[in-house]
Amino acid sequence: MARTVFILGAGASKDAGAPLMDEFLSLAQKINLGAQDDNYRQKVFDGIEDLRVIQAKSKIDLDNIENVFGAFEMARILKRLGERDAEQVDRLVHSLKKLIVNTLELSIRCPLSGDIYRPPRTYDRFGEMLFQLRNDLTNLQVSVITLNYDVALEYALSFYGVEYDYVFGNSIPANSISLMKLHGSINWRQCGRCSQIFSTPIMYKPNTFFTERRKGDYCLIRPSKHFAQQVHCNEPIELDAMIIPPTWNKTQYNSSIGQVWVNAAKCMSEADNIFIVGYSLPPSDEFFKYLFALGTMTRTFLDCIWVFNPDESVKHKYDNLIADGIRKKYKYFSKTFLEAIPIIQSKLMQ
Ligand SMILES: [Zn+2]
Repeated sequence: MARTVFILGAGASKDAGAPLMDEFLSLAQKINLGAQDDNYRQKVFDGIEDLRVIQAKSKIDLDNIENVFGAFEMARILKRLGERDAEQVDRLVHSLKKLIVNTLELSIRCPLSGDIYRPPRTYDRFGEMLFQLRNDLTNLQVSVITLNYDVALEYALSFYGVEYDYVFGNSIPANSISLMKLHGSINWRQCGRCSQIFSTPIMYKPNTFFTERRKGDYCLIRPSKHFAQQVHCNEPIELDAMIIPPTWNKTQYNSSIGQVWVNAAKCMSEADNIFIVGYSLPPSDEFFKYLFALGTMTRTFLDCIWVFNPDESVKHKYDNLIADGIRKKYKYFSKTFLEAIPIIQSKLMQ
């Protein structure tokens, strides 16, 4: 059985409208959040200003959302940020998560085509390719590891009737695509007591309940608007989306999402083909580098490890990351996700 793993970074969702990590805050600052902007955006930017004062001498780039998220989460562990106490820091993290979720939900657009809302273009093509591959190559097992929080891919898979599974448990299903979201997802929530993760399914249906039609012939996918009240361990499940920063300190989340990471490492270690798309190996994500190194270190039968990124300056990072044992299988393409799809498809159809 041929096993194929896709690893998708922020660049993969860029074409769908999602901002890259260093563009995120400037978009979040100006996007129209609608009537429900209960000052949470202002709270976030006030928090960032305080970080600037505190960290004036450090080299943390506070224009990057990943770094801000990591710093706020660190403040939560330390129970303080400037004059803020533990409860205020909690509210700050809550505000930031809400801002991230809303910015993503409001920036990813599904275009109207005829009388249906299709997935954003590149995920549409990707979903179609996966649909065709699964029909043509019945022995192909596909896993997708994504560093993205958004749900445009789920929408595309559902659009093409391709089943997927988030693999929260310790068995990897053979008949559906394993979709492993290493940093959580805007449609996941967590029980505050036992840490179990619950997901709101993203299903494509014409005029489906969680899409929001907009003038200009597109719709938005808004799972967070439809988080139902749900009880677990005799407590209401947290209403914040389960999303986590990509910084190295993930141990606090290990009890819940740890199994997803274990499964991701297992998929990488068993893969025949690995395709990495739109992931620029940001310095904040040391965790991924270790996961990748551990997942690929014992490989002898790997057929290919191909990296697609339109940014040529990312190449040297991969040149350094790829271990000698798999170097012969490695290729770097200065290509976008959309350009990568036919190249990947013809490789897999060989
Ligand atoms: Zn529980």
